[in-house]
Amino acid sequence: MADAVVRTDVGVLVDGDRITAVDDEKRLRSEAAGAEVVDCARGVLTPGFVDSHTHAIFGRARYEEQELRAAGVPYMEIARRGGGIHASVRDLRERSEDELFALAEPRLRALAASGVTTVEVKSGYGLSLADELKSLRVVRRLAESLPMRVRATWLGAHEIPLEFRARANGRREYVELLVHEMLPAVAQERLASYADVFCEPGVFTVEESREILSAARAAGLAIKLHADELVAGGGAELAGELGAVSADHLAAISDAGIAALAAHGTVATLLPGTMLFLGKRDQAPARRLVEAGVPVALATDFNPGTSPTPTFPLVLTLGVSQLRLSVAEAMLAGTVNGAAALGLADRVGQLSAGFSADLALWDVDDVRELPYWYGAGRCRASWTRGKPCHAHDLALPFPR
Ligand SMILES: [Zn+2]
Repeated sequence: MADAVVRTDVGVLVDGDRITAVDDEKRLRSEAAGAEVVDCARGVLTPGFVDSHTHAIFGRARYEEQELRAAGVPYMEIARRGGGIHASVRDLRERSEDELFALAEPRLRALAASGVTTVEVKSGYGLSLADELKSLRVVRRLAESLPMRVRATWLGAHEIPLEFRARANGRREYVELLVHEMLPAVAQERLASYADVFCEPGVFTVEESREILSAARAAGLAIKLHADELVAGGGAELAGELGAVSADHLAAISDAGIAALAAHGTVATLLPGTMLFLGKRDQAPARRLVEAGVPVALATDFNPGTSPTPTFPLVLTLGVSQLRLSVAEAMLAGTVNGAAALGLADRVGQLSAGFSADLALWDVDDVRELPYWYGAGRCRASWTRGKPCHAHDLALPFPR
Protein backbone atom coordinates (compact mmCIF):
# COMPACT_ATOMS: atom_id res chain seq x y z
CA MET A 1 0.00 0.00 0.00
CA ALA A 2 3.01 2.29 0.01
CA ASP A 3 3.51 1.67 -3.70
CA ALA A 4 2.09 4.93 -5.08
CA VAL A 5 4.04 6.94 -7.63
CA VAL A 6 3.97 10.71 -8.11
CA ARG A 7 5.25 11.88 -11.50
CA THR A 8 5.68 15.36 -12.95
CA ASP A 9 5.52 16.73 -16.51
CA VAL A 10 3.51 13.77 -17.74
CA GLY A 11 0.55 13.51 -20.05
CA VAL A 12 -2.23 10.93 -20.06
CA LEU A 13 -3.25 9.68 -23.49
CA VAL A 14 -6.86 8.54 -23.77
CA ASP A 15 -8.44 6.68 -26.65
CA GLY A 16 -12.20 6.33 -26.29
CA ASP A 17 -12.88 5.14 -22.75
CA ARG A 18 -9.36 3.82 -22.00
CA ILE A 19 -6.00 5.21 -21.00
CA THR A 20 -3.51 4.12 -23.64
CA ALA A 21 -0.34 5.75 -22.27
CA VAL A 22 1.00 7.72 -19.32
CA ASP A 23 4.27 9.27 -20.43
CA ASP A 24 6.46 12.34 -20.77
CA GLU A 25 4.19 15.15 -21.93
CA LYS A 26 6.38 16.31 -24.84
CA ARG A 27 6.77 12.78 -26.19
CA LEU A 28 3.01 12.17 -26.01
CA ARG A 29 2.27 15.45 -27.78
CA SER A 30 4.46 14.45 -30.72
CA GLU A 31 3.32 10.80 -30.78
CA ALA A 32 -0.36 11.69 -30.64
CA ALA A 33 -0.29 14.67 -32.99
CA GLY A 34 -3.83 15.61 -33.95
CA ALA A 35 -5.34 14.41 -30.69
CA GLU A 36 -7.64 16.76 -28.79
CA VAL A 37 -5.61 18.32 -25.98
CA VAL A 38 -6.90 19.26 -22.53
CA ASP A 39 -4.19 21.43 -21.01
CA CYS A 40 -4.41 20.97 -17.24
CA ALA A 41 -2.02 23.95 -16.95
CA ARG A 42 -1.01 22.97 -13.44
CA GLY A 43 -2.42 21.01 -10.57
CA VAL A 44 -2.47 17.34 -9.72
CA LEU A 45 -4.16 14.63 -11.77
CA THR A 46 -5.21 11.48 -9.88
CA PRO A 47 -7.31 8.43 -10.63
CA GLY A 48 -10.95 9.35 -9.94
CA PHE A 49 -11.99 8.23 -6.46
CA VAL A 50 -13.99 5.05 -5.98
CA ASP A 51 -16.57 5.45 -3.22
CA SER A 52 -17.28 1.79 -2.57
CA HIS A 53 -19.82 2.15 0.27
CA THR A 54 -22.84 4.47 0.18
CA HIS A 55 -26.51 4.37 1.12
CA ALA A 56 -27.57 7.21 -1.19
CA ILE A 57 -31.17 6.05 -1.80
CA PHE A 58 -33.20 7.58 1.01
CA GLY A 59 -35.95 10.13 1.52
CA ARG A 60 -35.64 12.82 4.15
CA ALA A 61 -32.50 13.73 6.07
CA ARG A 62 -32.28 12.87 9.81
CA TYR A 63 -30.54 16.01 11.11
CA GLU A 64 -32.58 16.14 14.34
CA GLU A 65 -30.82 13.02 15.63
CA GLN A 66 -27.42 14.71 15.73
CA GLU A 67 -28.36 17.04 18.59
CA LEU A 68 -30.14 14.28 20.47
CA ARG A 69 -27.00 12.11 20.27
CA ALA A 70 -24.88 15.02 21.43
CA ALA A 71 -27.19 15.44 24.41
CA GLY A 72 -26.60 11.79 25.31
CA VAL A 73 -29.98 10.42 24.24
CA PRO A 74 -29.48 6.66 23.57
CA TYR A 75 -30.21 5.15 20.15
CA MET A 76 -33.20 3.18 21.45
CA GLU A 77 -34.78 6.39 22.74
CA ILE A 78 -34.09 8.15 19.41
CA ALA A 79 -35.79 5.22 17.69
CA ARG A 80 -38.73 5.43 20.12
CA ARG A 81 -39.14 9.11 19.16
CA GLY A 82 -39.44 8.08 15.52
CA GLY A 83 -35.78 8.32 14.47
CA GLY A 84 -33.16 5.78 13.46
CA ILE A 85 -33.14 3.43 10.50
CA HIS A 86 -36.84 2.53 10.86
CA ALA A 87 -37.69 6.21 10.26
CA SER A 88 -35.85 6.03 6.93
CA VAL A 89 -37.69 2.80 6.09
CA ARG A 90 -41.12 4.32 6.82
CA ASP A 91 -40.23 7.39 4.79
CA LEU A 92 -38.81 5.55 1.76
CA ARG A 93 -41.81 3.23 1.53
CA GLU A 94 -44.09 6.24 1.03
CA ARG A 95 -42.09 7.69 -1.84
CA SER A 96 -42.28 6.94 -5.56
CA GLU A 97 -39.39 5.84 -7.72
CA ASP A 98 -39.39 9.26 -9.43
CA GLU A 99 -39.23 11.08 -6.10
CA LEU A 100 -36.34 8.91 -4.87
CA PHE A 101 -34.48 9.45 -8.13
CA ALA A 102 -34.90 13.23 -7.87
CA LEU A 103 -33.52 13.13 -4.31
CA ALA A 104 -30.57 10.83 -5.03
CA GLU A 105 -29.37 12.41 -8.26
CA PRO A 106 -27.97 15.66 -6.75
CA ARG A 107 -26.36 13.65 -3.93
CA LEU A 108 -24.35 11.63 -6.42
CA ARG A 109 -23.51 14.81 -8.35
CA ALA A 110 -22.15 16.24 -5.09
CA LEU A 111 -19.97 13.16 -4.67
CA ALA A 112 -18.79 13.57 -8.27
CA ALA A 113 -17.92 17.21 -7.52
CA SER A 114 -15.57 15.92 -4.81
CA GLY A 115 -13.63 13.76 -7.29
CA VAL A 116 -15.62 10.51 -7.18
CA THR A 117 -15.92 8.86 -10.60
CA THR A 118 -17.20 5.45 -9.43
CA VAL A 119 -19.81 5.04 -6.70
CA GLU A 120 -21.44 2.01 -5.12
CA VAL A 121 -25.03 2.54 -3.98
CA LYS A 122 -26.93 0.19 -1.67
CA SER A 123 -30.62 -0.44 -1.22
CA GLY A 124 -31.64 -1.22 2.35
CA TYR A 125 -34.23 1.33 3.46
CA GLY A 126 -37.06 -0.55 1.74
CA LEU A 127 -36.95 -3.92 3.54
CA SER A 128 -39.89 -5.30 1.56
CA LEU A 129 -39.89 -6.95 -1.83
CA ALA A 130 -41.53 -4.00 -3.60
CA ASP A 131 -39.53 -1.30 -1.81
CA GLU A 132 -36.14 -2.98 -2.26
CA LEU A 133 -36.84 -3.46 -5.98
CA LYS A 134 -38.00 0.18 -6.19
CA SER A 135 -34.74 1.34 -4.57
CA LEU A 136 -32.58 -0.75 -6.91
CA ARG A 137 -34.47 0.48 -9.97
CA VAL A 138 -33.60 4.02 -8.85
CA VAL A 139 -29.92 2.98 -8.73
CA ARG A 140 -30.23 1.57 -12.25
CA ARG A 141 -31.71 4.85 -13.51
CA LEU A 142 -28.87 6.76 -11.85
CA ALA A 143 -26.36 4.45 -13.57
CA GLU A 144 -28.02 5.11 -16.92
CA SER A 145 -28.32 8.89 -16.56
CA LEU A 146 -25.23 10.08 -14.65
CA PRO A 147 -21.76 10.38 -16.17
CA MET A 148 -20.16 8.60 -13.22
CA ARG A 149 -19.96 4.79 -12.93
CA VAL A 150 -22.70 3.59 -10.55
CA ARG A 151 -22.74 0.04 -9.14
CA ALA A 152 -25.68 -1.41 -7.21
CA THR A 153 -25.70 -3.48 -4.02
CA TRP A 154 -28.75 -5.28 -2.68
CA LEU A 155 -28.91 -4.73 1.10
CA GLY A 156 -32.32 -6.20 1.89
CA ALA A 157 -30.61 -7.54 5.02
CA HIS A 158 -29.87 -4.06 6.42
CA GLU A 159 -32.23 -4.56 9.37
CA ILE A 160 -35.20 -6.72 10.34
CA PRO A 161 -38.27 -4.57 9.60
CA LEU A 162 -40.52 -3.70 12.55
CA GLU A 163 -43.50 -5.64 11.23
CA PHE A 164 -41.35 -8.81 11.31
CA ARG A 165 -39.71 -7.97 14.67
CA ALA A 166 -43.22 -7.78 16.13
CA ARG A 167 -44.00 -11.39 15.20
CA ALA A 168 -42.93 -14.47 17.22
CA ASN A 169 -41.23 -16.17 14.29
CA GLY A 170 -40.58 -12.92 12.42
CA ARG A 171 -36.78 -13.13 12.20
CA ARG A 172 -36.96 -16.49 10.50
CA GLU A 173 -39.77 -15.34 8.21
CA TYR A 174 -37.79 -12.30 7.09
CA VAL A 175 -34.70 -14.39 6.28
CA GLU A 176 -36.95 -16.71 4.25
CA LEU A 177 -38.38 -13.68 2.41
CA LEU A 178 -34.86 -12.41 1.66
CA VAL A 179 -33.59 -15.75 0.34
CA HIS A 180 -36.67 -17.10 -1.44
CA GLU A 181 -38.46 -13.98 -2.75
CA MET A 182 -36.29 -10.87 -2.73
CA LEU A 183 -33.01 -12.35 -3.92
CA PRO A 184 -34.53 -14.27 -6.88
CA ALA A 185 -36.36 -11.10 -7.99
CA VAL A 186 -33.18 -8.98 -7.72
CA ALA A 187 -31.18 -11.60 -9.64
CA GLN A 188 -33.84 -12.05 -12.32
CA GLU A 189 -34.01 -8.31 -13.08
CA ARG A 190 -30.19 -8.05 -12.76
CA LEU A 191 -30.68 -5.13 -10.42
CA ALA A 192 -27.50 -5.57 -8.36
CA SER A 193 -23.89 -6.70 -8.74
CA TYR A 194 -23.35 -7.28 -5.01
CA ALA A 195 -25.24 -8.55 -1.97
CA ASP A 196 -24.54 -7.12 1.48
CA VAL A 197 -25.71 -8.05 5.00
CA PHE A 198 -25.56 -6.06 8.24
CA CYS A 199 -23.87 -8.78 10.29
CA GLU A 200 -23.88 -7.57 13.90
CA PRO A 201 -25.36 -8.94 17.15
CA GLY A 202 -28.96 -7.68 17.38
CA VAL A 203 -29.29 -7.40 13.60
CA PHE A 204 -28.28 -10.46 11.52
CA THR A 205 -26.33 -13.28 13.17
CA VAL A 206 -23.31 -14.91 11.53
CA GLU A 207 -25.46 -17.97 10.75
CA GLU A 208 -28.22 -15.90 9.13
CA SER A 209 -25.65 -13.85 7.21
CA ARG A 210 -23.98 -17.03 5.94
CA GLU A 211 -27.34 -18.37 4.72
CA ILE A 212 -28.34 -15.15 2.92
CA LEU A 213 -24.93 -14.51 1.38
CA SER A 214 -24.36 -18.11 0.29
CA ALA A 215 -27.67 -17.95 -1.58
CA ALA A 216 -26.66 -14.62 -3.12
CA ARG A 217 -23.30 -16.01 -4.21
CA ALA A 218 -25.06 -19.00 -5.80
CA ALA A 219 -27.27 -16.48 -7.66
CA GLY A 220 -24.15 -14.87 -9.16
CA LEU A 221 -23.76 -11.82 -6.90
CA ALA A 222 -20.44 -10.78 -5.35
CA ILE A 223 -20.47 -10.60 -1.55
CA LYS A 224 -19.96 -7.65 0.82
CA LEU A 225 -20.56 -7.45 4.58
CA HIS A 226 -21.16 -4.80 7.21
CA ALA A 227 -19.04 -6.49 9.88
CA ASP A 228 -17.66 -5.96 13.39
CA GLU A 229 -18.75 -2.31 13.62
CA LEU A 230 -19.56 -2.37 17.33
CA VAL A 231 -18.42 -5.79 18.59
CA ALA A 232 -16.16 -8.52 17.21
CA GLY A 233 -18.93 -10.93 16.29
CA GLY A 234 -17.27 -13.10 13.66
CA GLY A 235 -18.33 -10.99 10.67
CA ALA A 236 -14.82 -10.55 9.23
CA GLU A 237 -14.16 -14.27 9.64
CA LEU A 238 -17.34 -14.96 7.67
CA ALA A 239 -16.29 -12.49 4.96
CA GLY A 240 -13.04 -14.43 4.51
CA GLU A 241 -14.83 -17.79 4.57
CA LEU A 242 -17.28 -16.71 1.84
CA GLY A 243 -14.61 -15.05 -0.33
CA ALA A 244 -16.29 -11.64 0.02
CA VAL A 245 -14.90 -8.79 -2.08
CA SER A 246 -15.03 -6.57 1.03
CA ALA A 247 -15.79 -6.45 4.74
CA ASP A 248 -16.81 -2.96 5.84
CA HIS A 249 -16.65 -0.89 9.09
CA LEU A 250 -14.47 -3.24 11.25
CA ALA A 251 -13.92 -0.85 14.18
CA ALA A 252 -14.10 -3.87 16.51
CA ILE A 253 -12.41 -6.50 14.29
CA SER A 254 -10.61 -9.34 16.14
CA ASP A 255 -7.13 -10.71 15.40
CA ALA A 256 -8.77 -13.80 13.90
CA GLY A 257 -10.87 -11.52 11.70
CA ILE A 258 -7.77 -9.69 10.46
CA ALA A 259 -6.10 -13.03 9.68
CA ALA A 260 -9.19 -14.20 7.76
CA LEU A 261 -9.26 -11.08 5.57
CA ALA A 262 -5.51 -11.34 4.90
CA ALA A 263 -5.76 -15.03 4.00
CA HIS A 264 -8.54 -14.47 1.46
CA GLY A 265 -7.51 -11.10 0.00
CA THR A 266 -10.79 -9.54 1.15
CA VAL A 267 -10.68 -5.74 1.15
CA ALA A 268 -11.20 -4.03 4.52
CA THR A 269 -13.34 -0.99 3.74
CA LEU A 270 -12.96 1.57 6.52
CA LEU A 271 -15.49 4.36 7.09
CA PRO A 272 -13.86 6.87 9.44
CA GLY A 273 -16.44 9.58 8.68
CA THR A 274 -19.08 7.50 10.45
CA MET A 275 -17.10 7.32 13.70
CA LEU A 276 -16.31 11.04 13.46
CA PHE A 277 -19.98 11.97 12.94
CA LEU A 278 -21.15 9.71 15.78
CA GLY A 279 -18.54 11.24 18.08
CA LYS A 280 -16.88 7.90 18.73
CA ARG A 281 -13.22 7.50 19.56
CA ASP A 282 -12.72 3.92 18.45
CA GLN A 283 -11.68 3.90 14.80
CA ALA A 284 -10.87 0.70 12.91
CA PRO A 285 -7.28 -0.58 13.41
CA ALA A 286 -6.06 0.53 9.99
CA ARG A 287 -2.34 0.17 10.73
CA ARG A 288 -2.74 -3.37 12.05
CA LEU A 289 -4.75 -4.26 8.93
CA VAL A 290 -2.13 -2.80 6.59
CA GLU A 291 0.69 -4.48 8.46
CA ALA A 292 -1.15 -7.82 8.28
CA GLY A 293 -1.28 -7.48 4.48
CA VAL A 294 -5.00 -6.70 4.23
CA PRO A 295 -5.89 -4.33 1.35
CA VAL A 296 -7.54 -1.31 3.02
CA ALA A 297 -10.11 0.87 1.22
CA LEU A 298 -11.67 4.15 2.39
CA ALA A 299 -15.27 5.17 1.66
CA THR A 300 -17.79 7.79 2.79
CA ASP A 301 -20.60 5.49 4.03
CA PHE A 302 -22.81 8.35 2.76
CA ASN A 303 -26.16 7.85 4.55
CA PRO A 304 -28.79 9.93 6.38
CA GLY A 305 -28.20 8.59 9.88
CA THR A 306 -24.50 8.26 10.57
CA SER A 307 -22.45 9.80 7.73
CA PRO A 308 -24.15 12.47 5.64
CA THR A 309 -20.99 13.70 3.90
CA PRO A 310 -20.74 13.93 0.11
CA THR A 311 -17.06 14.98 0.34
CA PHE A 312 -14.66 12.18 -0.48
CA PRO A 313 -11.36 13.98 0.28
CA LEU A 314 -12.56 14.48 3.88
CA VAL A 315 -12.32 10.69 4.20
CA LEU A 316 -8.67 10.94 3.11
CA THR A 317 -8.11 13.51 5.85
CA LEU A 318 -9.56 11.14 8.43
CA GLY A 319 -7.59 8.27 6.92
CA VAL A 320 -4.37 10.13 7.67
CA SER A 321 -5.30 11.98 10.89
CA GLN A 322 -7.45 9.32 12.57
CA LEU A 323 -6.42 6.01 10.98
CA ARG A 324 -2.73 6.99 10.73
CA LEU A 325 -2.34 6.04 7.09
CA SER A 326 0.31 7.73 4.97
CA VAL A 327 -0.97 9.97 2.17
CA ALA A 328 0.10 7.31 -0.36
CA GLU A 329 -1.84 4.66 1.56
CA ALA A 330 -4.91 6.88 1.82
CA MET A 331 -4.78 7.63 -1.92
CA LEU A 332 -4.51 3.93 -2.78
CA ALA A 333 -7.33 3.20 -0.31
CA GLY A 334 -9.56 5.67 -2.19
CA THR A 335 -8.69 4.46 -5.68
CA VAL A 336 -7.03 1.07 -6.32
CA ASN A 337 -8.44 -0.64 -3.23
CA GLY A 338 -11.85 1.00 -3.59
CA ALA A 339 -11.97 -0.55 -7.05
CA ALA A 340 -10.89 -3.90 -5.56
CA ALA A 341 -13.75 -3.65 -3.05
CA LEU A 342 -16.06 -3.64 -6.09
CA GLY A 343 -14.20 -6.36 -7.99
CA LEU A 344 -13.04 -3.76 -10.54
CA ALA A 345 -9.32 -3.61 -9.71
CA ASP A 346 -8.26 -4.90 -13.13
CA ARG A 347 -9.75 -1.92 -14.98
CA VAL A 348 -10.57 0.94 -12.56
CA GLY A 349 -8.60 3.04 -10.06
CA GLN A 350 -5.21 3.55 -11.71
CA LEU A 351 -3.61 5.97 -14.14
CA SER A 352 -2.12 3.16 -16.20
CA ALA A 353 -2.36 2.03 -19.80
CA GLY A 354 -5.35 -0.27 -20.27
CA PHE A 355 -7.35 1.20 -17.38
CA SER A 356 -10.63 3.06 -17.72
CA ALA A 357 -10.03 6.78 -18.31
CA ASP A 358 -11.35 7.86 -14.89
CA LEU A 359 -9.42 10.98 -13.89
CA ALA A 360 -9.73 13.80 -11.39
CA LEU A 361 -7.88 17.11 -11.67
CA TRP A 362 -7.17 19.04 -8.48
CA ASP A 363 -6.45 22.68 -7.74
CA VAL A 364 -3.34 21.87 -5.67
CA ASP A 365 0.41 21.71 -6.31
CA ASP A 366 1.13 18.57 -4.28
CA VAL A 367 -0.94 15.42 -3.72
CA ARG A 368 -0.40 15.82 0.03
CA GLU A 369 -2.70 18.85 -0.13
CA LEU A 370 -5.72 16.62 -0.80
CA PRO A 371 -6.04 15.39 2.81
CA TYR A 372 -4.52 18.65 4.11
CA TRP A 373 -7.18 21.21 3.04
CA TYR A 374 -9.80 19.28 4.93
CA GLY A 375 -13.40 19.71 3.91
CA ALA A 376 -12.36 21.86 0.92
CA GLY A 377 -13.67 21.38 -2.59
CA ARG A 378 -10.63 21.45 -4.83
CA CYS A 379 -11.69 19.21 -7.69
CA ARG A 380 -11.39 21.26 -10.90
CA ALA A 381 -12.73 18.56 -13.17
CA SER A 382 -13.16 14.84 -13.56
CA TRP A 383 -13.69 12.33 -16.35
CA THR A 384 -15.27 8.87 -16.26
CA ARG A 385 -14.63 6.49 -19.17
CA GLY A 386 -12.93 9.39 -20.98
CA LYS A 387 -16.03 11.61 -20.82
CA PRO A 388 -16.56 14.70 -18.63
CA CYS A 389 -18.00 13.72 -15.24
CA HIS A 390 -17.68 16.94 -13.26
CA ALA A 391 -16.63 20.37 -14.55
CA HIS A 392 -15.80 23.19 -12.18
CA ASP A 393 -12.87 24.90 -13.92
CA LEU A 394 -14.44 26.99 -16.66
CA ALA A 395 -11.12 27.35 -18.48
CA LEU A 396 -11.19 23.69 -19.47
CA PRO A 397 -12.74 22.82 -22.85
CA PHE A 398 -15.84 21.06 -21.51
CA PRO A 399 -19.36 20.96 -22.86
CA ARG A 400 -21.63 22.82 -20.37
ZN1 LIG B 1 -23.16 1.02 5.48
